[in-house]
Amino acid sequence: MRYDYDIVIIGGGAAGLSAASKAIETGAKAVIVEKDKLGGVCTWSGCIPSKALLKSAKVFSDTLQLSEFGISPGMANSYNADMVMSHVRSIIIKMGEHAAPEYYEQGGMNVLFGKAVFIDGHTVRVNEETVTGRHFLICTGSRPQIPPIEGLREVDYLTNKNLFDLNYLPASIAILGGGPIGVEIGQALLLLGVKVTIIETADRLLPREDRETAVVLEEMLLRNGLKVCTGSKTVRFSKTDGQTEVTIEDRAGNRSGSTVERVLVATGRLPEIEELQLGKAGIQYTSKGIVTDDSMKTSVENIYACGDAVGPYKFTHMAAYQAGIAMENILFGKNTKADYHSVPWCIFTKPELAHFGPTEEEARAQYGNTIQVYRAEYKNNDRAISDLEDAGFAKVICDLQGHILGAHVVGAKADEVIHEYILAKANGITLDRLSKAIHIYPTISRIIKATAEQYKIRERLKEKEKVAATT
Ligand SMILES: Cc1cc2nc3c(=O)[nH]c(=O)nc-3n(C[C@H](O)[C@H](O)[C@H](O)COP(=O)(O)OP(=O)(O)OC[C@H]3O[C@@H](n4cnc5c(N)ncnc54)[C@H](O)[C@@H]3O)c2cc1C
Repeated sequence: MRYDYDIVIIGGGAAGLSAASKAIETGAKAVIVEKDKLGGVCTWSGCIPSKALLKSAKVFSDTLQLSEFGISPGMANSYNADMVMSHVRSIIIKMGEHAAPEYYEQGGMNVLFGKAVFIDGHTVRVNEETVTGRHFLICTGSRPQIPPIEGLREVDYLTNKNLFDLNYLPASIAILGGGPIGVEIGQALLLLGVKVTIIETADRLLPREDRETAVVLEEMLLRNGLKVCTGSKTVRFSKTDGQTEVTIEDRAGNRSGSTVERVLVATGRLPEIEELQLGKAGIQYTSKGIVTDDSMKTSVENIYACGDAVGPYKFTHMAAYQAGIAMENILFGKNTKADYHSVPWCIFTKPELAHFGPTEEEARAQYGNTIQVYRAEYKNNDRAISDLEDAGFAKVICDLQGHILGAHVVGAKADEVIHEYILAKANGITLDRLSKAIHIYPTISRIIKATAEQYKIRERLKEKEKVAATT
């Protein structure tokens, strides 16, 4: 049977474009089908604009700290919201240029704009056109989950899809959801002077994070002026004089209300798969997304899927990782499998919170007393002290031989610092060996060495005790 393409990639976001680059590198006959703009959520309404907004907010908050560094503040203590939001959009446009269709076309691929709908396991319809493929890779991503709360539809609520279109900042905002998105955007707005309330049903913000690290961040957000309502659910919205009245209910059933200018929904993401008509191709899926095995293959032999449409980790680097696995298997007939044991991520707040592997609670539940935990404080790190960024700590969890299981860093530059642990874990480097590497003084990275040194000293003391016992 002859097909139009070896590979049809559906969706041109992080996963789809990553796969497209692999197709170009290998000269495969491929097409990418995109219903909107190449670049996906990450470029247009996710990672990039949220990080650009956070950067503006951090720069502004730094200007409020100038006198602590011995600098006269001068005129720097105000900002123009319209200019901040225009700046965010200018960064989106700059990044969008990296996702230009011409780049992929010049590489030898076709780019088709339109919604892909399955007709059967080898055919999709795009607009009025029928496209056939030997293999398909579904990368259709996710969209915000909108909870069914009374009155929410009547409120002109924000999500990540329209937040960055604003040319002003509201005086006050209620954010539904205290996960990474709610917390990052919440802090950006707080640092820019918006009154922010985060409503979270779990008993704390960032429930997937190691408890101690999440506490450090929550304390910082409270110092920034955040109002937090944890253990609470939103039960009703109503409009009053252009403002929104938000009613929440705690676990004991007590209700309370507050009035805000805007509402942001950040309660999770749903896979974007309904329009595909997966059933026509016999592809299995659940409410969480398309079902695949670890090789990213769906229930249909020639169809693979990856990224947010599959999960379980909805990050750009995971979308790209899964796309790499799927393409290797499609292009070279391999059976490479995804490994989710050390998935890293970061919450890019001030300070950052970076995570990989199990939390301490999870590691204790799984391995009992066969784990060790080493922790070093930013307040003992000379660079953190001189930069006036001494809040936070690094924590590494290892087995009895010093093999790293996971690590959690909350503090300045945690997003960069954590990679040393990631590299050590990926290459089986123990804490003992890590302690032998010379780290530049004064750097935040010396906090990694500080945890590794603790392991080494403990081992040396144990050896000494053993020798003493035998002599
Ligand atoms: C506010 C926010 C901040 C974030 N920050 C980070 C971060 O800092 N770091 C990080 O790693 N991750 C972050 N993420 C998550 C990250 O954006 C996603 O994990 C990533 O974009 C997923 O990539 P994807 O390719 O699976 O899906 P998407 O990027 O959503 O791309 C899917 C594409 O498929 C297209 N499509 C859908 N259906 C069809 C169809 N039927 N036919 C044709 N095309 C279709 C869509 O138009 C879209 O372009 C953030 C997300 C949000 C919302």
